[in-house]
Amino acid sequence: MDDATRETLLVHALANAVRHENVPQPGAVLAMVLGKHPGLRARAKELSGALPGVIAEVADLSPDARKIRLAELAPGLHLDEGESCARERTLPPLEEVGPTGVVMRFAPNPSGPLHLGHARAALLNDAYVRKYGGKYILRIEDTDPKRVDPDAYGMVQDDIRWLGVNVTDIVYQSDRLDIYYDHCRRLIALGGAYVCTCENEHFKELRHKMAACPCRKGDVDSNLARFEDMLAGSYYEGEATVRVKTDLDHPDPAMRDFPAFRILKSPIHPRVDAEVYPLMNYSVTIDDHLLGVTHVIRGKDHIANTRRQQYIFAYFGWEVPVYVHYGRMGIEGVILSTSQMRQGIREGTYAGWDDIRLGTLRALARRGISPDAVRAAVLEIGTGETDIQFSWENLFAKNRDIVDPVANRYFFVRDPVCLPVAHAPCQVAHPLLHPGSPALGTRTLPFNGNVIIPGAEAVPGRFLRCKDLFNICIEDVGGTICAKYAGESLAEARAVKAPIVQWLPDGDAAVHCTLHTPEGDQEGLCEAVVAQELGRVVQFERVGFARVDRADTGSVKAYFTHR
Ligand code: GLU
Repeated sequence: MDDATRETLLVHALANAVRHENVPQPGAVLAMVLGKHPGLRARAKELSGALPGVIAEVADLSPDARKIRLAELAPGLHLDEGESCARERTLPPLEEVGPTGVVMRFAPNPSGPLHLGHARAALLNDAYVRKYGGKYILRIEDTDPKRVDPDAYGMVQDDIRWLGVNVTDIVYQSDRLDIYYDHCRRLIALGGAYVCTCENEHFKELRHKMAACPCRKGDVDSNLARFEDMLAGSYYEGEATVRVKTDLDHPDPAMRDFPAFRILKSPIHPRVDAEVYPLMNYSVTIDDHLLGVTHVIRGKDHIANTRRQQYIFAYFGWEVPVYVHYGRMGIEGVILSTSQMRQGIREGTYAGWDDIRLGTLRALARRGISPDAVRAAVLEIGTGETDIQFSWENLFAKNRDIVDPVANRYFFVRDPVCLPVAHAPCQVAHPLLHPGSPALGTRTLPFNGNVIIPGAEAVPGRFLRCKDLFNICIEDVGGTICAKYAGESLAEARAVKAPIVQWLPDGDAAVHCTLHTPEGDQEGLCEAVVAQELGRVVQFERVGFARVDRADTGSVKAYFTHR
């Protein structure tokens, strides 16, 4: 066998060994090689003959040595399937997809509007439902009245619409309390849950010692009666909790007899009149089953919850969905904590949920990021298990691809100064609205004696090109900064590498413009016609893209998008 083919076998055997932390079976390696290299199919027999030797070579290496060897031969191949697919910009296939496709869900808490972290869950699940067909349930998880913001019900739906997520069904958990109660009765009857009235600290001590609390020993009938008492309001807040019976000797104390229901007398829930609320792991499990959810894609911070939820599935004898847990995503530079955002808004630090210093989707929208860019960036990140840092540059690159072909170009002059231009012929400049699409036409900038240029450029001795107009020299005439006409020739300006500056005529063609950036506001002037671009993204030439947010008479406010 030639060296190159043997190396191909070795790479895949190593990748399999690293991924599964075990020496692979020859059949698995062969299937992988033939899948990736269809050209080798005709040589399957020959490959089979060589595989035992290759696998013996892998078996001789320690787990670390396998990783090192693989990284030398094929950097990147040791990644898990989610990660390597993300590199190839495709999503890995889901396991166990039936003939009718999948049922998936996005399950936010209505505690505030959606942010970038939510977008990942919402869009990955959406992508799979699009791929396989089926149902996509938006499940509003509002069974913790302490974490419900009544306004968030509407905001979440607006954000979902903005993202372009194809929701087929909407479910509110607060509509389903009776379903949760009924299933709790069944779970108690199955011996899977009990009502615990132990003082919390006492319960924790027992749990720490892997000991059962006295309530755990109660029979089904007494537990059912106590649960009815809970529903009837016979207990104070915190006095009774329904617990799921798990393993008291589970190595993770948080797994031992976790709570399923609690009593909360306040705050008042905005949608239901209740005092007994299910906790997340319980309601999620009941709903995932009853709603027929087949696949769950969520962050790996839910792995412990998945383990808890398995207990409930097991008591009921229900089939468990397929889970994919993706790695954590660090997002720098914006605020993501809902409570921090809310407090900042209340205190006036942030203007609202769409303040551009926040990581909400509405903040992204406000600054001109397209939902398609968010989708592209998030799907590229994919479902890999490795923790990653969110790349703003990548999001901006995706957005640039979307806005660059359609954003009209305009001049924005920062910290403007108005200079008379001696000896310049009056004329009208007609810069293109879009250099890539001359058919879109031009703007009209009538020069009539004065140019407005950025203050930073008005330095005596400088030779500048006013874009699409003419060249000027900056002069100091008896203590006054002026400009002198220096001809029309673009070639001459280029020859001396003259800075090309944005300019505006003095008069009605220019209006005041505030450009809001995350680092602070920039004041300047822009072309008056920018006001007609309200709500759209434009490009301020040589500054960057910006979304026109407000246009009042004589002034424009825009948000900087990216360069
Ligand atoms: N409502 C939960 C959360 O936002 C999601 C539950 C789940 O995905 O299973 O964290």
